[in-house]
Amino acid sequence: MSTALIYSEQYGRFDYGPEHPLRMDRLGLTWRLMEAYGLTSLPGAKVLAPGPVDEEALARFHTGEYLGVLKAVSAGLEVPGLARYGLGPGDNPVFPGVWEVSCLVAGGSLLAARLVADGEVARAFHFAGGLHHAMPDRASGFCYVNDPVLAILALRDRAWRVAYVDIDAHHGDGVQFAFYREPGVLTISTHERGDRLFPGTGFVHELGEGPGRGYSVNLPLEPFTDDGVYAEGFEAVVPPLIRAFKPDVVVAQLGIDSHRTDPLTHLALSVQGFTLTVKRIVELAPRLVALGGGGYDLGNVARAWTAAWAVMNGVELSPELPLGCRPELARFGFSNGSLWDPPAELPEDFQSQAQQYCRHQVEAIRRTIFPLHGLA
Ligand SMILES: [Zn+2]
Repeated sequence: MSTALIYSEQYGRFDYGPEHPLRMDRLGLTWRLMEAYGLTSLPGAKVLAPGPVDEEALARFHTGEYLGVLKAVSAGLEVPGLARYGLGPGDNPVFPGVWEVSCLVAGGSLLAARLVADGEVARAFHFAGGLHHAMPDRASGFCYVNDPVLAILALRDRAWRVAYVDIDAHHGDGVQFAFYREPGVLTISTHERGDRLFPGTGFVHELGEGPGRGYSVNLPLEPFTDDGVYAEGFEAVVPPLIRAFKPDVVVAQLGIDSHRTDPLTHLALSVQGFTLTVKRIVELAPRLVALGGGGYDLGNVARAWTAAWAVMNGVELSPELPLGCRPELARFGFSNGSLWDPPAELPEDFQSQAQQYCRHQVEAIRRTIFPLHGLA
């Protein structure tokens, strides 16, 4: 099995600002944990640094007006009415180099898509990617440019059927929007319910339009959804739909803000639950373009994406974290010496509420979407 890991040290040059939850440090931390486990020098795995793409590549999804504004503010120019483009203090701050880093993230995800499309590798992982909220004409939810959409468009150029599986705690709204009328792209997003969490969308009834009807799938989840409840919901929905759709490639967004210690969300997964889900995605995917996503507790991010990359290469990791990495992880608040999380005790009534909610959503998906795919 040939694979590719895509990473650039350049990412460390950029900074959303000291108050922002998205710390670029998480990428370097993840890289160093992978390195400490020997996962950056695996036989059969290429390690590649992306180059930036140009404006034309971004314009396949984004408007020229928005891209012009993003480029201008990145260079320090004053542009009035930034809120119109989702930019400004708060979620999507303007920082020096926001244009350059956006071009680099898009470049990494397009490189992953190209390597897989050309048959050079069967699985590629660009963990700086997965910025699924960006819209054609505005930034949203820490995302300026929608690299998953650009990667899917590149795979569609080969006339491939693309299944997009998004396990971030937030709804993959930008990707759903891009392909809402497109039956060649099946988008499936599991996430905390939209009436509890940003971006406020991702309900079962958002199932696509026109020829795309039935090709947008959403599994919303209740706060405190844990590994067991999540696995039950995922198994009931994702494998049957993927098998029925028969994709040529799966694009996966592997956000780890679904973790029980994530400061921005309320789901209750562990790194083990995340990793089992990644394993299922890998098993279901004839070819895989894997991207990162959210994750705001940095020790989780590094452990989860290291475990995900090991799964993509069929490597078993020792649960003991390599000693050399522990001091750095401790600096980011993670002092447990294990790759895996200790068992959690969730209040039972929360758990059964989460399970009931999940089962109810699965039923709704079975009733409304499964028949559109010939599934009983
Ligand atoms: Zn997220």
